[in-house]
Amino acid sequence: MGNNGWNIEVWRIALVIFMSILGGLISAQWLLSLLLCLVVYIAWLLYKLNQLHIWLSKGAKPALLPDSNGIWERVTQKIQLTHKKSDRRKDRMANLLKRLQDIIAGLPYATVVLNGNNEIDWANSLSQEYLNIDIKKDRGQRIDNLIRVPQVHQILAENANKEIEVSFPTDDFGLDKQIALQVIPVGGDLKLLIARDTSERNKINRMRKNFIANASHELRTPLTVIAGYLEIMQEDEEFPKQLQPALHASADQSIRMQRIIEDLLTLSRLENSDLNDTTSNIINVPSILERVYKDESTLIVNDSHKLVKNIDENLKIHGAEAEIISVCSNLVHNAIRHTQDGTMITIEWKLNANNEACLIIKDTGQGIPAEHIAHLTERFYRVDKGRSRETGGTGLGLAIVQHIVQRHNGKFDISSEIGKGSEFKVTFPVSRVYKD
Ligand code: ADP
Repeated sequence: MGNNGWNIEVWRIALVIFMSILGGLISAQWLLSLLLCLVVYIAWLLYKLNQLHIWLSKGAKPALLPDSNGIWERVTQKIQLTHKKSDRRKDRMANLLKRLQDIIAGLPYATVVLNGNNEIDWANSLSQEYLNIDIKKDRGQRIDNLIRVPQVHQILAENANKEIEVSFPTDDFGLDKQIALQVIPVGGDLKLLIARDTSERNKINRMRKNFIANASHELRTPLTVIAGYLEIMQEDEEFPKQLQPALHASADQSIRMQRIIEDLLTLSRLENSDLNDTTSNIINVPSILERVYKDESTLIVNDSHKLVKNIDENLKIHGAEAEIISVCSNLVHNAIRHTQDGTMITIEWKLNANNEACLIIKDTGQGIPAEHIAHLTERFYRVDKGRSRETGGTGLGLAIVQHIVQRHNGKFDISSEIGKGSEFKVTFPVSRVYKD
């Protein structure tokens, strides 16, 4: 039977049998004697059971352990062992939770844990500073009652991992504080609301934009004067012959600088203003493309490039006309300037399978190495700086296109294969497509 506590119990049962036989021998009442011994044994068992029950109800503390041996001792030992294990597990979990809370509390973000009803479960200390949420008094409150900003209610309802930026008034100087907010669903019913202060970043961005806008503006007037004088000098027949190459080079460079400044000012305008967008602004893209096609065709000398059109004549969109003209002419102009002679360029304007309006300018040129593609929309990024300058490029055309497309809620994709050509695709969403 092994040393598992039962051997003592067997001895006890043997004692019960022995006592009942002894009682039977003395009294000749065998049944009564057996019954009496069994009653005593059962009463003793019930007493032990009661002791165990009392010990368990008092929290199974080792100090209150009932005095026992045999199987009872084994049972209490097992209970104590299980208790110890679960205590250790509880300690570990509490430690882990504490460490997680410390980590979240130390993040430079305000973090609020919400349940399925958008009620606050937990929040770190930055939540007080950024969102005015004090966990001590706001636990259990619905967050939409505390932050009364419709955009916040919307992202909470959508429960999608999306970031928005909202302005909150600060109490100190009445200045607005810009906060970027993001809802992160974390499985089950839980979600995290994360907020970070973007005021400083926005301020620096504003300063950068203002600086570029002001610098470009300040440079425009003196440059116009210089370019004007250079033009007059070029027309002057008495101008010394030996200085003429230098004069022409200066005039070309001043025109190039004027173009750069105009493009920088265009970019600043795009960055610093919202799209003046009314749904009644219907843009006849087919006629814009027709004009661009005609204008750009005149730039092609000696049939160096072939321009082909494939245009849905009925497809119009809502947007800003001057900006859409700029997108079309920039892309077609690039396809002519940045490809070798013999290149075929296709201008395509159509609805795609998702009913979005697509402008695709495709060429069969030399293509663009893959490592450059992601950078093409950065300001002043050129694959071939020499060629871009030679052809009068400013390095700002694709940055302008990207900005305009973004303002029209569209997508700008560039793909290219070396030796085969490049494709510049602008996709306008269904909401921008004009329906008669
Ligand atoms: P740029 O004034 O130099 O044309 P862009 O911003 O319009 O400036 O274009 C950036 C660079 O992208 C160009 O300098 C050129 O290297 C590359 N690029 C643009 N379009 C094409 C094209 N169709 N084929 C090959 N390279 C192109």
